Amino acid sequence: MPELRKDPIIGRWVIISTERGKRPMDFKREKRGIVGGFCPFCPGNEDKTPPEVLAYRDPLTSPNTSGWKIRVVPNKFPALQIEGDLDKRGDGIYDMMRGVGAHEVLIESPKHDMPLAYLPDEHIESIFWALRDRSVDLNKDSRFKYILIFKNWGEEAGASLEHSHIQLIATPIIPKRVMEELGGAKFHFQLKERCIFCDIIKQEREVGKRIICDNGEFIAITPYASRFPFETWVLPLRHISSFEKTNTEAFPSLAKIMKTVLNRMNKVLNGPPYNFIIHTSPCKTPDLEYFHWHIEIMPKLTRVAGFEWGSGFYINPTPPEDAAQVLRES
Ligand SMILES: [Zn+2]
Ligand SMILES: [Zn+2]
Repeated sequence: MPELRKDPIIGRWVIISTERGKRPMDFKREKRGIVGGFCPFCPGNEDKTPPEVLAYRDPLTSPNTSGWKIRVVPNKFPALQIEGDLDKRGDGIYDMMRGVGAHEVLIESPKHDMPLAYLPDEHIESIFWALRDRSVDLNKDSRFKYILIFKNWGEEAGASLEHSHIQLIATPIIPKRVMEELGGAKFHFQLKERCIFCDIIKQEREVGKRIICDNGEFIAITPYASRFPFETWVLPLRHISSFEKTNTEAFPSLAKIMKTVLNRMNKVLNGPPYNFIIHTSPCKTPDLEYFHWHIEIMPKLTRVAGFEWGSGFYINPTPPEDAAQVLRES
């Protein structure tokens, strides 16, 4: 059973994986590489993953066989485990709890070599529906406080399998990064009675130079204080604080803007590895007036090194205005 341990100084939680204990030998500095050859996500190998929790499939086919378009399965090597209670307790001056949570993988399509950005609009839309369906379901488990949805694409971005997929991790605590974002947004709201994200959208639409595209439902911008070159945020124009409460009619626009942004990044940056993360409100507070859900996309073009670790500063060699212009005009 993994353990969650809290850093007593800055309050950061760490997942200590006690069972998969790695020894020094396991970290030899050989190039790890993405596992090639056999792929558990390909059709025909459905029995090599835990049984599916959701699949959009041909109605004539049975669960855990081929014939699916999108498939969600529990992660075979979960960071957190689904069974049991949190059993929160002290350990001297320290705090810990059992590593209870859910860790699921959404397999985007049956095609092994298909990047997300190349899928048809309707297929990408279905992927967002599937993520929404899983979020709604995981939200029903009262042990979970937050559902983090993210994608690692490419080895440098942390993907360990080639077959394109998205992960969902439900955590029993609200992650520190999320708390900081919520705290900052709340402070702005208390001061001005306006959502900071709505304010950002308004100003960026007036200024224009950091906009990549705007389709009437969603806007893609390079944030003013971008940490990384070509960092991009996709936000709904309408104020909605949680991803799963997005209005039905907006899903086609969400799929379109994600496809556009990812395709332009592919073109301009030659198919870079990237991560994206859906920032949404915590499970128990889906309707916050001060928070506004959005997706942050980060192509992996630079390395985070000593200065960043030591200071929390990021050195970004590409001004967001330049990045937006290139992506806008490509
Ligand atoms: Zn595959
Ligand atoms: Zn807002």
